[in-house]
Amino acid sequence: MTGREYLNRRKRWVFGGVAVGIVLLVGGLVGLPLLVGAGLDTPAVSAVVVPGVVVFVATVVAGQKFLFRCPWCRGNLGALLTQKGVWRTDPRVRFCPYCGTDLDDPVGGGGDWDAPVE
Ligand SMILES: [Zn+2]
Repeated sequence: MTGREYLNRRKRWVFGGVAVGIVLLVGGLVGLPLLVGAGLDTPAVSAVVVPGVVVFVATVVAGQKFLFRCPWCRGNLGALLTQKGVWRTDPRVRFCPYCGTDLDDPVGGGGDWDAPVE
């Protein structure tokens, strides 16, 4: 598995969580009142919308801060990888900005990073 494949897999999980949050949020605000014929102040709407907001915010924050780490140097790539593309890493991003390793190098193979000169 290459670093890009590793990051793409993580990206699908994170944006899958974002999609679930959006579906719960929009479904709770729009779909549930239409289905039930009730107003927005019913407890059933809150029971769907509140978890949707929690899932949405949690996956966005986790993606930005924790889940997109360089497989070699563990540098945080969250801000870079969440700018463009939903299900895969932007193909223009070719190297880790922290260690310079090619994202298409195999993980755990010969993609060792060069430690910066101290
Ligand atoms: Zn790196």
